[in-house]
Amino acid sequence: MFADRGMRMTEQRRVIAQVIENASDHPDVEELYKRASAIDPNISISTVYRTVRLFEELQIIEKHEFRDGRARYEAIPDEHHDHLIDVRSGKVIEFKNDRIEQLQEEIARELGYELVEHRLELYAVPISRDDKSDKD
Ligand SMILES: [Zn+2]
Repeated sequence: MFADRGMRMTEQRRVIAQVIENASDHPDVEELYKRASAIDPNISISTVYRTVRLFEELQIIEKHEFRDGRARYEAIPDEHHDHLIDVRSGKVIEFKNDRIEQLQEEIARELGYELVEHRLELYAVPISRDDKSDKD
């Protein structure tokens, strides 16, 4: 799958690939480094940076910028999903909505295009669960 530059490098790439594959939280490079180096302490952060860039070029992983100044990564999913970002906690929630999917296709078609891809990011704060009427 990858152009090898010696066994060691290939093994480290495999570890990094595994860490990304197992992650469900869209980790950034720092976090990937933390997890990968827990498996193989010889992995350096620059190796993680280089490997992530390579995977991105090979379209194995997807890069996201959720406005917090950090590039985050996830393995390209089998099924498309969009993201809701909790701007307070930074938590990323995945969702898919058929109505939105369909609407986007319609908009593109009305503009004379066939939709091939899209990205949708919702930035949100949690709705407060405090109900003051309970406190009596
Ligand atoms: Zn995702």
